[in-house]
Amino acid sequence: MKILIWLFTSLVCVFLLSGNAIAAGGAVKSPTGTAPDRYVYYPGTEELKKDEIRLIACGTGLPAARRDQAATCFLAEVGNGDKFLFDIGTGSMVNVAALMIPYDFLNKVFLTHLHTDHWGDLATLWAGGWTAGRTGPLRIWGPTGETKEMGTAYAVDHFLKAFTWDAKTRNFVLSPKPGEITVKEFDYKAENAVVYQENDVTIKTLPAIHAGDGPVSFILEYAGLKVIIGGDTFPNKWYIKYAANADLAIHETFLTPPDLVKFYGQSPGQALGVGTQIHTSPQAFGKVMSTIKPRHAVGYHFFNEQATHDNILMGVRETYSGPLSLAVDNMVWNISKEAIVERMIVSPDQAWSVAGPNKPPSPPAKGTVPDPLSDFIKAGHWDLADKAQAEMIKEFKTKYKMK
Ligand SMILES: [Zn+2]
Ligand SMILES: [Zn+2]
Repeated sequence: MKILIWLFTSLVCVFLLSGNAIAAGGAVKSPTGTAPDRYVYYPGTEELKKDEIRLIACGTGLPAARRDQAATCFLAEVGNGDKFLFDIGTGSMVNVAALMIPYDFLNKVFLTHLHTDHWGDLATLWAGGWTAGRTGPLRIWGPTGETKEMGTAYAVDHFLKAFTWDAKTRNFVLSPKPGEITVKEFDYKAENAVVYQENDVTIKTLPAIHAGDGPVSFILEYAGLKVIIGGDTFPNKWYIKYAANADLAIHETFLTPPDLVKFYGQSPGQALGVGTQIHTSPQAFGKVMSTIKPRHAVGYHFFNEQATHDNILMGVRETYSGPLSLAVDNMVWNISKEAIVERMIVSPDQAWSVAGPNKPPSPPAKGTVPDPLSDFIKAGHWDLADKAQAEMIKEFKTKYKMK
């Protein structure tokens, strides 16, 4: 009998080994046929199921720029059709745009705090989306601060003031509506408080401990699923209490203090302060995760390369042995009751914006918005340029039946 079991086991092993192509994603059966599972997600090619959340890391890096990794941004796509941007850090819009999602679906932004690596690319979403198909205002949710000047409403109000020239020159040729931003500010001290509740989606806020008063983390609940989007923080009691049993728990894990010295040029004192007090060390991240026990843990907020990755992983594994991703940009998780599937996104470097279902708003009627060009500047018009393009313009006007 023992021999029979051994023989059977050996045969199964041989079958599995020889069937290696199946384990690697199925067999290619014909040189002209399609490939089986590629373990990647091609944006826009997969219908999101009603009871599913697709979460995309559009930025996982740091305030300093790196082509390979933008600063913090997570896009949550929910089975009911709603999409939510959690932070919009510097550089992240190139990854968001490569998903080729109509800008009208990208109009809800939740900010964890007001460091540039968490909202620095708002300018790109705001102005870029305005020129590329958004038909209505942007909506932003963000925390108050200890004073009015430290809150989200003040920041967005002054953001718009800083971009006065941009807005006034665009308003002349584009509808002003998509250039508007509405802000819903909520108390940064609020504990597990609902800040958004529509169409079966609930988003709650938790206080965080980071650099100054104001930062928060978010909880997204939908279809019995719970996803925690942790903002910058030292491990805190609120996250431990309310992130327990999350399906996906995102929490920052920062570069190790030795790597902050070696790669980021910080002094040892600074590295220790930044890496273990203002942010979360790998060991502390692991402790958070082994305490709250999510179905899947995600660490981010460091430049993820071989050396840093290995050092962080070793630190995390001192205190946590569960399911883990150390995020890079364009990592994606499909979350349902049945499974959490992680893949990488394959998207074009040269993506165009895609029109959505809404009709674009008309530009302002002539004479209703002040002309931003003065007579002095207009008088500098070089007539030979008009002559050079006259024929091309004539053909274009004929083609589109324009006067
Ligand atoms: Zn920060
Ligand atoms: Zn940050």
